[in-house]
Amino acid sequence: MAKDKDCELCSEERLTPWLYEDKHFFVAICISCDLPMVVLRDHRIDLSDNESSAMKEILTKSAVEYFDNTPFFVDDVMRQIPNHKHMHARRRPQVPNF
Ligand SMILES: [Zn+2]
Ligand SMILES: [Zn+2]
Repeated sequence: MAKDKDCELCSEERLTPWLYEDKHFFVAICISCDLPMVVLRDHRIDLSDNESSAMKEILTKSAVEYFDNTPFFVDDVMRQIPNHKHMHARRRPQVPNF
């Protein structure tokens, strides 16, 4: 597993609750967004299709519990840390129900 000593995600500091972890990934509450975020335990962004779908599945499972069935989506865009694969689960914007 490649690690970058200056990378916030590689440091795996448990500053927020962790919802899930295994050998390859962990799900923690993102310190900037306060939302569930799945993180690859390897400093890279190139994923196989299997890894990518496993990540989404793990995040979805954690997020269903976390959001208690309020609608959310998996946000694959990496804004603050573009060089270490992670994905956020974000609430769907509430559409007024007229
Ligand atoms: Zn990293
Ligand atoms: Zn975040």
